[in-house]
Parts: sequence; structure tokens; C-alpha cells
Amino acid sequence: MISLQKIIMNLILIGMPGSGKGTQAKMISEKYHIPKISTGDIFREQLHSGSHLAEKIRSHVDTGRLVNDEIVFDVVKERINRSDCSDGFLLDGFPRNINQAETFDRYIESFKKSVPNVMYLELPFEVIIKRLTSRRICPVCNRNYNLLTIPPAKDEICDVCNVGLLPRKDDDEATVRNRVKVFKSETVPLVDYYSLKKNLLEINADNAIEVVFENICSLLDSNSLAV
Ligand SMILES: [Zn+2]
Repeated sequence: MISLQKIIMNLILIGMPGSGKGTQAKMISEKYHIPKISTGDIFREQLHSGSHLAEKIRSHVDTGRLVNDEIVFDVVKERINRSDCSDGFLLDGFPRNINQAETFDRYIESFKKSVPNVMYLELPFEVIIKRLTSRRICPVCNRNYNLLTIPPAKDEICDVCNVGLLPRKDDDEATVRNRVKVFKSETVPLVDYYSLKKNLLEINADNAIEVVFENICSLLDSNSLAV
């Protein structure tokens, strides 16, 4: 008798700001019916729910400190054990550093969970800078554009309101360069870490959104993810 194996799709998505990570995460989550889990979203949700973790998170947020790795791990662990993650999950923004990655790996191993595939959206540094400084927002309806990747129909004009678009706050070149530098210093070691573990899928993100998504899907479909 043939037994049907359950396919579990556990994924981690790594990409710098400007790599299109958020957009791809949403598309992957919809196509493969797995929840997209971002630590930012869980923190907001926990804070509203008043759970036991909420107090811990709040004490950090109130004092302006970064939420530490232990709390981040606790909230992720709680989230991936919910029933909607039984067929898999997509982690967006976690792990953020080696310490988080190692803690997560130990957890996966000790609870015999299926080892996640890690996808890295790769993009040259200069392309990231160009993309981030090309972001625009409509001052009236707050719609987001990107002159390179999601341009308005008319140059620098909102499709809906017909008013001039503005650069986003904190998107001047010096700030963007600094932000990307900080992110790069965290991301590169993480990519190396997963590369050594041989569960890294590298994706060229220097393409149109649809092309990148197609490449992701063919990688996911060809990688045997059955447990
Ligand atoms: Zn508008």
C-alpha cells in the first residue's frame, strides 16, 4: 500500500531591505498555503493580546532597548507551534543573527521538526541602494511606489490621486547606505552559516518581481521537501 507522505514546507527567507523580501514572502505564503511569520507582526500581536510574553516585550520596547534573542526565540517558538503551522511556515526576519540561528537549529533538532530550507534573496549592494532611494510615497493616500520596480503610470505622480509623489522619510542616500551596511554585517554571516549547513537556496533578486517568484517556486518545487 502506498502511504502518502505529508509535505512539510518550513522556510526561512533572508534578504536585505530593498530585496523585495516582503513581497515575495506574501506571494510564497499565498501559493503554498503556509503562514508568513514576521517577528515584527508577532510582537505587535503579543502586545495587544496581553500574554505573558507581552510584559517582557513591553519592558524592552518602553526602555527603547532591542528585544533580546531569548524573547525573540520564545515568541517564534510559540507561533510555529500553532495549528496553522502544521504543514509548514515561512519565517521572515528571523533568525537575524548567528545566535538566533543556532538556538533555532538546536530547537528544530531536539523536537525533530523538519529542517527549514533557507532562501537568500541576493542583490548587489549598489542595486539595493538604488532601489531604496527610488522608493516614493503618495502624501495623500500613502500608496507606495518604487520608480524602478513599481513605477506609477505617470512619472512621479500617484495613479490614484494625481498628486506628486514624495521620497519616503529616512530614504536619503546617506541614511540608506548606513542602514544597508548594518544589515549587511548581520546578513552575510548568516548566509555563510546556512551555506555551510547546506540548506541554503540562493536566488538572484536582481530581476522583476514575477521572475524572482518563478525562480523561487521552481527551486521549491524541485527541492524535495518531503519529510
Ligand atoms: Zn495617492
